[in-house]
Order: sequence, then structure tokens, then C-alpha cells
Amino acid sequence: MTRVFSGVKPTGHLTLGNYLGAMRQWVAVDQHRSDALFCVVDLHALTVDHDPARVRRLSRQAASLLLAAGLDPGLCTVFVQSHVDEHARLSYLLECVATDGEMRRMIQYKEKAARERVRGGSVRLSLLTYPVLMAADILAYGADEVPVGDDQAQHVELARDLAVRFNQRYGHTFVVPRATLPGVAARVMNLQEPASKMGKSDDVGPGIVYLLDEPDVVRKKVMRAVTDSGREVVYDREARPGLANLLEILAACAGGEPAELAGHYDSYGALKKDTAEAVVEVLRPLRERHKELCADPGYVEGVLREGARKARAMARPTVDAAYRAIGL
Ligand code: ADP
Repeated sequence: MTRVFSGVKPTGHLTLGNYLGAMRQWVAVDQHRSDALFCVVDLHALTVDHDPARVRRLSRQAASLLLAAGLDPGLCTVFVQSHVDEHARLSYLLECVATDGEMRRMIQYKEKAARERVRGGSVRLSLLTYPVLMAADILAYGADEVPVGDDQAQHVELARDLAVRFNQRYGHTFVVPRATLPGVAARVMNLQEPASKMGKSDDVGPGIVYLLDEPDVVRKKVMRAVTDSGREVVYDREARPGLANLLEILAACAGGEPAELAGHYDSYGALKKDTAEAVVEVLRPLRERHKELCADPGYVEGVLREGARKARAMARPTVDAAYRAIGL
């Protein structure tokens, strides 16, 4: 059976980008057709300035949101990365296979490091090596497929390269994984800055729709989305990125193709209104289920405990084999 691995970082509240770009596909497709693991990757949240209590709180919240979105612990494994030591154990071995040059070429590192430097902050070494830990997350489980949004495609490519290199040098140990991207909404953009992606870690902003936003907050954010000074509703990602983003969000939430949907509207206002309602409807069941789960924290804890037990049992043989293969 195909093995699938993917995760979310608890660096902030989960967004519509996380949902449309990744979680929705995990729920609707991946957990049913494969042996899938979904992980709250809390070690990755330490790569930037963080408040320990907040990371702990956001990890639990992310786990409940994964369950609220519809991941079923009877079908897949849901767990927290730091509960399973194999990730860190394997990461070190992969650091001995990766080069510093390939790390420095990672687009996300370049962007995030530049931002940290502008703020006058220092860049943690773990931000540079983060893609190696991500490769360990994937390779430890022998994942064939990694369903992610477009922003993570380069990191999955690195995991492939490291798997191939390790196998060539030390004998076949790892399955070589590949990224699977969603058809629409592979990259949901910030509603206020359509040139940047809607990222939870970036800043609390009026351009980011959070999964737990109240319906009226969602409506306000979508109605205030930046479009441009044109009048006609057309789908053109290059020339009209704000509009294209709304059309893609609408298509992802309500069905249809962005270009075809554009033909149904003769004003931005009507498009925004329908997009806002479509987003509210998509998020409604998730918010309701999340509320129920908050009332039963013991259930979520139990799922995570059992998930970690299963994940550990799956990862250990591969990581042990890697230690032997490399000469330890
Ligand atoms: P971030 O911290 O940027 O929100 P994560 O690293 O936690 O994202 O990503 C979790 C998943 O959500 C990944 O598969 C990622 O590709 C996807 N994702 C994140 N932001 C977006 C976005 N704006 N559009 C589409 N997919 C996204």
C-alpha cells in the first residue's frame, strides 16, 4: 500500500492556505487510499523565535484542527513529531549526507533568513538545516508520497536527493518519495499582498484567513481583499494576481474552474461576496467539530499518544537500518 506522510508546523494558527493547499486533500483522498501519517511538526517551530508555552498550545490546537477537519485516527496516524525520537536521530545522519551549499540554495531559507536579518535578528542554524529534518520526517516512514502545497515542493525534492544519495553510498535504505500537489489552490496568496503566500508564520494580518476565524471576520477579510483598478473579472495570474487568488479560492471551495467562474461575474463585489460565503461554508463544520474537541481534551491526548506509539514502531526499523548502513 502507498505510504503517505505530511505535516503542519505549529508556528501560528492554521490558515485557509494550509487547509486548501494540504489538509483537505489529506482528509478527502489520502487517508482513504493509503497508509497515511499526519504530523504536527513541532521541532520545526523552534527554527524561529518562539514562546515555549505558545508552541505547546499551538501544537495541541493544530492536532485538534487536523481531527476537526476530518482526519480519522481509525484510518490514519496522527501524532506530534517530538513524541517520536526517530526524527531527530535520522536528521543527524542526513546532515552527514547533505551539503551546506544545497541548504543555502533553498528558497524558503533565503527568504526567511533575509527577513530575520532585516529585523536585526540572528538566524538560527536550525533554520538552515530545517529541510534536512523535514527529509528525516519523510524518509523515516518510507513515505512514497508527500502531499504538500507548492511552497514545500523544493523541500520534498531535497528529501528525494538525500534518499538517492544515501542509497547510492551506503546501500538501499530509503524509499525515494515524491511530492503530490493539489490541482487548484496549490498556493493560496495573502488577501492584502497577493504577491506573498498566505502563511501562518508570517504575521497576524488582515490578509490571512484563519481556520478558526468567526464567519463575520472571514467575510470582512475577503470583502477587503486587494484586487486592482480594472473592472472586468478575468482570470490572469500574472496581470491580476489578487483577482486570480479570489477565483482560485472560490473554485477550491465551491467547485468549478477559476477561468470559467470569472465569466459568471461582472463586478468584483459580487465575486467577493460569493467567495466569502463559500469560505464560510467550507470552514463551518470544521469550527463546529473543533469546538466539540476542545470540550474533550482527553480524547485528543489519547489519539496523539496512540499515534506516537504507531509512528515509532513504523520509523524505528528504517532508522536503525540507516545507522547500521552508515557505519555505526
Ligand atoms: P505555513 O507555516 O507556511 O503555514 P506549513 O509549513 O505548516 O505552512 O505547511 C503545512 C502545509 O500547508 C504544507 O503542505 C504547505 O505546503 C501547505 N501550505 C501552507 N501555506 C499554504 C498556502 N498559502 N497555499 C497552499 N498551501 C499552503
